[in-house]
Amino acid sequence: MIRPDPDFPASYAQARERFLAAARARGARIVSYANPAGPGLDGEALAADVAVLGPADAREVVLIQSGTHGVEGYCGSGVQHALLRAGGELDEALATGARVVLLHAINPWGFSWRRRVTEDNVDLNRNVRPFPVPDGPDVDYEDVHGLLLPEQWPPGEANEAAIAAFIARRGAAHFQFAFTHGQWSRADGVFYSGRAPTWSQQTLREVLRTQVRGAASLYWVDLHTGLGPTGHGELIYAGRDIAADIARTRACWGPSVTSIYDGSSTSAKIGGMVGNAFYDECPGTALAAIALEYGTVPMDGVRDALRFDHWVAAHAPQDAAARAQAREAMLGAFFVDTDDWKAAILRQGREALARASAAIRAA
Ligand SMILES: [Zn+2]
Repeated sequence: MIRPDPDFPASYAQARERFLAAARARGARIVSYANPAGPGLDGEALAADVAVLGPADAREVVLIQSGTHGVEGYCGSGVQHALLRAGGELDEALATGARVVLLHAINPWGFSWRRRVTEDNVDLNRNVRPFPVPDGPDVDYEDVHGLLLPEQWPPGEANEAAIAAFIARRGAAHFQFAFTHGQWSRADGVFYSGRAPTWSQQTLREVLRTQVRGAASLYWVDLHTGLGPTGHGELIYAGRDIAADIARTRACWGPSVTSIYDGSSTSAKIGGMVGNAFYDECPGTALAAIALEYGTVPMDGVRDALRFDHWVAAHAPQDAAARAQAREAMLGAFFVDTDDWKAAILRQGREALARASAAIRAA
């Protein structure tokens, strides 16, 4: 259960209702993309919704996105709603002449069912990769699949010892890489890249084509949770390994922007990130892009919730009590229901938009 809050929602259904109402109150143009995998947890329709403010021919576009990782939308939707509802930063962004695009719940199925993955067990932030995937197994992932998702749950001491031994042998960084890089060989595994573009990827591409293509610059903030110290938002560069794009991103959001390409990020080097879609869909547009990655609980807690969630989906999909327990564990791992945490999240979310406005003014 989530305590009532004016911005952070208690369900996907409430998040969507509030987002649309706040966007309408602002006079935003709204475009909705129905997700065919519905209904959601409460029987509601599922959709990714886009609220657009500012001129259609703006040179600069600010895109703020939530729910790439489903359940992480509980946080991201709250930030978007706060910006719409009490939006000094939004006014400031619009005063630059920019178009502001709020993309709500790009993975609505995962948001509603409190899972990180899409309806096809795909990690959307690993899915924007070349297809077909390589022939043969993903050897790095195959080493850890059985450790992460053993036959029995809870896993027990032998499993813990085996994971500890793997980490001792190969290193913690390799372990993190092996299970998070975006494996392609186990459709029921964790951090699965998928074998084709998901509905969410196709929808994101449509949003980029219709809302961003043709602009001179894009400032993109993708809201995430689950990595790093609690309440701290790590600004992780979210484009390809292109020096000019990294420099533009650091010029906007500051030198503290980390990168998976130089080892400065808490995140391992991963493939198939959503940022890749930009390069296909928006030729000629300059990019500054971050994942704003808010810490929740210690990494072991996040990992165990993810493992349990996948274990239930693979081994006990008909067990309603286990599924409810997994949803509760996922929410607890990707959202922190305290006033301090929520205040820190909103402050940093507002700051991220304010910095984009400052960069646009300075350009
Ligand atoms: Zn995420």
